[in-house]
Amino acid sequence: MNNLESMYRSMIMDHSKNPRNKGLKGFKSFHLNNPSCGDDITVEAKIVDGVIVEIHHDGVGCSICCSSASIMSEVLQGKTVLEAQKLIDEFSKMLMGKEFSEKLEEASIYQGVSKFPARIKCATLPWKALEKVIKDE
Ligand code: ZN
Repeated sequence: MNNLESMYRSMIMDHSKNPRNKGLKGFKSFHLNNPSCGDDITVEAKIVDGVIVEIHHDGVGCSICCSSASIMSEVLQGKTVLEAQKLIDEFSKMLMGKEFSEKLEEASIYQGVSKFPARIKCATLPWKALEKVIKDE
């Protein structure tokens, strides 16, 4: 394991042990699960004038899924619905091993997951749930 991989791993462990924005507040939400791993997550967002001002999540899952929900909530909070949709698309592209935008910030730590097809859904699940929440905005 090189230094970058060990840094990524410790960020994933940190976010999975101390998730940011965990706990639902009753905004518009969407629930998704990933039976092959046992991930089960609900993501909600408060959207004001086309801007995602708050994102919260709750549920259970593996460290990749839980940390991804936490990081997603930080990266996409404050973005417009359009910007968030673009970043969700970039995140999926990255996990398919394609080129992606640096605007993914901390979320780019999951690029190594593209080598493990069984785990891709773990990383994308929270992002897909948010995509459903913002879809009609
Ligand atoms: Zn998982």
